[in-house]
Amino acid sequence: MTAAVQADAPSMEIDLGRLGENWRTVRGRYTGAELGAVVKCDAYGLGLDPVVAALSAQGCRQYWTLDFDEARRARALAPQAEIFVLDGLRGAPARAFREWRLIPVLNDPDEIALAARAAPLTVAIALDTGLGRLGLRPEAVRALAARGLDGLRVRAWVTQPASFSTPEGPESQGLYDRFLDLTAPLPRAARSLAISASVFARPEHHLDMARVGSALYGVDTTPGRALPLRPVARLDAPVLQVAELPAGAGIGYDGQFRCPRPMRVATLGIGYAHGLPYALMNRGAVRFGAHAAPIVGGISMGLTSVDVTGLPLHLAVPGARAEIFGDRQRIEDLAAQAGLPANALLSLAAAVCRKRYHGLRPDQPLASSLSESLP
Ligand SMILES: *Cc1c(COP(=O)(O)O)cnc(C)c1O
Repeated sequence: MTAAVQADAPSMEIDLGRLGENWRTVRGRYTGAELGAVVKCDAYGLGLDPVVAALSAQGCRQYWTLDFDEARRARALAPQAEIFVLDGLRGAPARAFREWRLIPVLNDPDEIALAARAAPLTVAIALDTGLGRLGLRPEAVRALAARGLDGLRVRAWVTQPASFSTPEGPESQGLYDRFLDLTAPLPRAARSLAISASVFARPEHHLDMARVGSALYGVDTTPGRALPLRPVARLDAPVLQVAELPAGAGIGYDGQFRCPRPMRVATLGIGYAHGLPYALMNRGAVRFGAHAAPIVGGISMGLTSVDVTGLPLHLAVPGARAEIFGDRQRIEDLAAQAGLPANALLSLAAAVCRKRYHGLRPDQPLASSLSESLP
């Protein structure tokens, strides 16, 4: 299939060369022994298959998938890798995990008992250090330490940090201490605490094994700490029409915006059905080159209006494309204006928009399109 941009639809470009660069940046920062990539939820929407292929070419040998189906897809692309399944045993019988050499992340005592009946089996076990979501509560950890592991081979003790946006803060220290306390009486296995934010924070918290997602995809989860990461995804949308509107004209439903003066307004072919948050009504901007064009009126299902008054005339014309996020506009900034985490914007837009891939190999020019995926 050729990788043409559909003239009337948004398009997401995914630069696998930059994904590789981010992998090398994280690799250079992480001081623990083992670094794995989180590719859950179709690699945050970017496409599990191309992402696993690109990261495997960089030497990545550990993947963290959401469920059994994703894990099998990763296995097909990375025959030698260790593949962890965050949903645990829920998606398939335990023997299927052994056959496919997948490592379920077990989250509660019942699941551990179920896995033990299929022993020998290699598993990871999640401990709750304050997130209150998945993982063994402290009393269950103590019971497990006393009872033993019934033939299960534990590859890693895992905890998900309940606080990561300020990795140098007291909360991070607290959950690090709790994790060390919890794992102390347990059999020795790799301790996995570090996620993207941790890799760029205190090396003493890196421990043995990291699970990194956002940083690889160029998303900074620590506001105010500009990290040395490159955006991997760029979303753009076509200009469908440009109109000169007189002062007082309305834009959008029910007078969502009223022109305070004569304005030139471009209608873009992107809306909330493509993942552009409705909360951006009269908020935020898109980019034409270096120029910002503020959003005016509401976000419709498939359309959004932007103010292009004063922009060089040739930039915003029908057929031109506006950058929604990418190099000119950080996804973190646009998401913040909508009150969202960047990953919420990224994963939703990536799941619904047509994607084009560039630069699978780092030595390939970025402009050489490799493939296209239709949602
Ligand atoms: C999503 C997830 C990660 C990755 O977090 P990032 O901040 O994106 O690096 C790590 N561990 C678990 C258990 C996760 O669910």
